[in-house]
Amino acid sequence: MTDKTSSLVPRSSSLRDRVAHWIRPAIRAIDAYHVPDAEGLVKLDAMENPYGWPPEMVEEWLLRLRSVPLNRYPDPAARHLLPALRQAMGVPADAGILLGNGSDELIQILMLAVAGEGRCVLTVEPGFVMYRMIATFTGLGYVGVPLREDYSLDAEAILAAIDAHQPALIFLACPNNPTGNVFDREAVRAIIERAPGLVILDEAYHAFTDHTWMPELPAHDNLLVMRTVSKMGLAGLRLGLLAGAPEWIAELDKLRLPYNINVLTQETARLALERHDVLAAQTRQIRADRHILYNGLREFPELTVYPSEANFILFRVPPGRADAIFDGLKAQGILIKNLSHAHPALQDCLRVTVGTEAENERFLTALRKVL
Ligand code: PMP
Repeated sequence: MTDKTSSLVPRSSSLRDRVAHWIRPAIRAIDAYHVPDAEGLVKLDAMENPYGWPPEMVEEWLLRLRSVPLNRYPDPAARHLLPALRQAMGVPADAGILLGNGSDELIQILMLAVAGEGRCVLTVEPGFVMYRMIATFTGLGYVGVPLREDYSLDAEAILAAIDAHQPALIFLACPNNPTGNVFDREAVRAIIERAPGLVILDEAYHAFTDHTWMPELPAHDNLLVMRTVSKMGLAGLRLGLLAGAPEWIAELDKLRLPYNINVLTQETARLALERHDVLAAQTRQIRADRHILYNGLREFPELTVYPSEANFILFRVPPGRADAIFDGLKAQGILIKNLSHAHPALQDCLRVTVGTEAENERFLTALRKVL
């Protein structure tokens, strides 16, 4: 079978020309998601929980893994995991649940489901970069409405953008990454009520705040709440959850690859949820240490430190010094995130993840030296 497009680039043309011909221009134009090498460094760049499990829990885990049948496909419905996850995440009884290979995959499923001519996604900026990247992957239009200077929602601007663009999906991360704040409930409610399509409240950082939209699912049939176990201490598992009206979930489930949650993840998550007390204690510790780290950062008069309800803190350094401070910390063995070039509203901003007490102290000491 021949078609017109393939004849435009003969098989004999250079590899470069064939790549340029077949890979969509929108994909060629973007950079891959960059994960820096953290070997040998104190890793405070990726919102991970710094703690492992107590030895007896690790033993129990290894014992269970022994009997996991690696020769079999995983249960596509994760029936043994789902009830525990529903309970741990406080998903209302009537809501449906979709599991993803990390919440990144759920974002991809959502966008694949709605992509089409003239369709777009709306979110706020600065925000989580994968919303924009996956919109590009799936050929969706992208509308990024600026947050106010204090990173709060500009409800009026968002409502106007909703009216103008009629987005299929609206993503709001709450707490927001990378700013760490939660958005005003009344403003969010107004957005949900005005949205023609779906509103996804991305609660990736739910473990570090008391705010949640989960109990409100039954009140809004266009609301979905997304969670992940990544920041709770299980980033290596890749497990995310989307909850909402079963009518939406049933359609989205058709796009899920049948065995997206592997057997090791299912078994490990089951154990972790049985021992939820261990993860909850770690989370409480991180919340307490966030407070100490925040106060530590506030002692530097040259910094602007933004309040956070997540497991990281955003701070602004004196103009033009972000790169040097970031590099100076790295030279002292500490990796954080340099956001200064990520978005105009983040100029001179760095983000540090809350680590162990010792790591946070090391970070503050190193920062003192480079400031
Ligand atoms: N949403 C937000 C707001 C995030 O910050 C992240 C991770 N940085 C994710 C979703 C993705 O989480 P995961 O794929 O690990 O579940």
